[in-house]
Amino acid sequence: MATTAGESNSSHYTKIGLSEDEIPTQWYNIVADLPKPPPPPLHPKTLQPITADDLAPLFPMELIRQEVSAERYIDIPPEVREIYRLWRPSPLFRARRLEKLLGTPARIYYKYEGVSPAGSHKPNTAVPQAYYNKAEGVKKLTTETGAGQWGSALAFATSLLGMDCEVWQVRASYDAKPHRKTMMELWGATVHPSPSPLTQSGRAVLKETPDTPGSLGIAISEAVEVAAADPDARYALGSVLNHVLLHQTVIGEEALKQLAKVGETPDIVIGCTGGGSNFAGLAFPILREKMAGRMSPRVLAVEPAACPSLTKGKYVYDYGDTAGLTPLVKMHTLGHSFVPDPIHAGGLRYHGMAPLISHVYDLGLIDAIAIPQKECFDAATAFLRSEGILPAPEPTHALAATIREAKKCIETGESKVILTTLCGHGHFDMSSYEKFLSGSLEDLDYPEDKVAAALADLPKIE
Ligand SMILES: *Cc1c(COP(=O)(O)O)cnc(C)c1O
Repeated sequence: MATTAGESNSSHYTKIGLSEDEIPTQWYNIVADLPKPPPPPLHPKTLQPITADDLAPLFPMELIRQEVSAERYIDIPPEVREIYRLWRPSPLFRARRLEKLLGTPARIYYKYEGVSPAGSHKPNTAVPQAYYNKAEGVKKLTTETGAGQWGSALAFATSLLGMDCEVWQVRASYDAKPHRKTMMELWGATVHPSPSPLTQSGRAVLKETPDTPGSLGIAISEAVEVAAADPDARYALGSVLNHVLLHQTVIGEEALKQLAKVGETPDIVIGCTGGGSNFAGLAFPILREKMAGRMSPRVLAVEPAACPSLTKGKYVYDYGDTAGLTPLVKMHTLGHSFVPDPIHAGGLRYHGMAPLISHVYDLGLIDAIAIPQKECFDAATAFLRSEGILPAPEPTHALAATIREAKKCIETGESKVILTTLCGHGHFDMSSYEKFLSGSLEDLDYPEDKVAAALADLPKIE
């Protein structure tokens, strides 16, 4: 809780660890505690609520069960916890040097997920997704990847579980980050640039716009198309879906235990949002505590100004992909045909927001803001030069918001406890950082006309 400047109830820890025995044994499902259930996904053709059978060509039964579950807790299989031990529990840091650099009385904590083998929070869900697929006899997983983080995480998970993996990497990222592709291939995955000539969806886009930078929406269409046609293959999504957000709650559960160890409760909780999974992972267990009256932090989602689905999108039913192959979900969306400009935070270039986060936002449980990328790279520099870690471009949005809040504390003299997730490192993002250093990184305007055109394309559903 906030205290006045100079006073601190925390000890002298910089890195707050947990033992392997304290890796959570259950994932937390926020649906159980919400005052209203989230709107159901609809079949893209019949517009009726989808059934388990509709989803069976794409996902294993256990993940479908988790997707629609209203149980508060779901057990983490021992085999998954065993693999989690490779990097979990992840450390919680007190950003003492950043606080000093800013001259703020705020106490800043960050949960660092870049310690995973793939370098982000994504393996928290890649491992259980591969595990449940394997358990139901699936031999191959197909997927998309935006920044290369999710493709890497799934390639890592499938390699440990002895499965095949085929990845469609968004063209802009395939060109800008060749080393992510190499990493995926080293783990044994096959990687294609998206759009590709290998699928109907890809060929259709290439015909219209041969020079397209690609988008997550297009890459999802390609991966879904291939999985649906192969009985031995299923599709895996790295964000957005309920079961993905569920798996990420290990982040928030651990962070709560770690803060409790040093006698702290958060006043502000901040996360970056692309599809919403790392944000939900931290925020949902904290919202449980807030709804139960045990703490009362402000919870803030931060998105890029060039792709602001929560703050500028409409809350309506839309497709999760460009070709319209996925179920219709009610979410904050800029329109499934919107192709965001290739900002450096490739993982935040998604036209929609997780339905559960959209719902929680609609219920007024969280706030959202959008920040342009130059401020984010400035925040990354301040962080790197004080804390020493190079952040992925995505969490620099959360860092920029953290720094804004820490600076407000200088004015008010309040010593607020700010908690954020540093959800990945930026070791594969050097071309973006080179542009920043050479001064050629630009803020991209919010593409009002492009969004208006995409919103006009929304499916009409009453
Ligand atoms: C994928 C990714 C994101 C965006 O996805 P969310 O589901 O919103 O978390 C953000 N940061 C990193 C490091 C990522 O890899």
